[in-house]
Amino acid sequence: MKLKILWMYHDLMDLYGDKGNAEVLRVRAQKRNIECTVDTCTLGQKADIADYDLFFMGGGADHEQSLIYEDLIARKQNIIDAMHSGTAFLLICGGYQLFGQYYRDQDGKTIDGLGIFDYYTESTDRDHRCIGNIAVETTMDGKTFKAVGFENHGGQTKNVSTPFGRVLSGQGNTFGNEYEGFMNGQVLATYMHGPLLPKNPMIADALIARALKKNYGHVELAPIDDTLENKARETMLKRLKAL
Ligand code: GLN
Repeated sequence: MKLKILWMYHDLMDLYGDKGNAEVLRVRAQKRNIECTVDTCTLGQKADIADYDLFFMGGGADHEQSLIYEDLIARKQNIIDAMHSGTAFLLICGGYQLFGQYYRDQDGKTIDGLGIFDYYTESTDRDHRCIGNIAVETTMDGKTFKAVGFENHGGQTKNVSTPFGRVLSGQGNTFGNEYEGFMNGQVLATYMHGPLLPKNPMIADALIARALKKNYGHVELAPIDDTLENKARETMLKRLKAL
């Protein structure tokens, strides 16, 4: 089996170790003897997104978001084609925001999003950001579990139809929100940096399964020893009183 990952704007959208997500996907696929490639693509470079099984985009500060949004919007039809072809998506923070209607930054400057989903994001003022460790409860592909991450966003994302998880500790889509992120059967979009996947191997495997589905249908992934990863996650859950 083969798994083709596209890591978009790797040089600009990579906050708090988001790059670790691509590495975890690669290593966990290879442990199952799945041949995995991670290609990168940035401003002005060509890539056929529909040719990939998984599209990954990390987070970025307002400045980086303003540098990439026009290039991203120019790829909108290709992204829609990829969605129709069954590509799975992992979008972190700034990447999450740019798949919505628009992002208004802390200076009141608005940049368009792809407008693929109904949600939109408006920042609070400079002194107020949602910062800190966060725990959520989520259900992916029939399995309910608790996930941990780190959020740092001024953006307050509203009008989210189907969130990723219920907040156990931390802020979420807006200050004090009950919910975090956006998710449908193909797209996981979240504020959780950290990076997300090393701390939450069950999310990594759910994404690998979603991505493999494009070419192979339902694939049962062999278990991996996640003792250390789970210990780390449980330590944070305990600290957040969310276990
Ligand atoms: N610039 C965006 C915000 O502050 C996204 C930040 C991020 O990706 N961590 O809301």
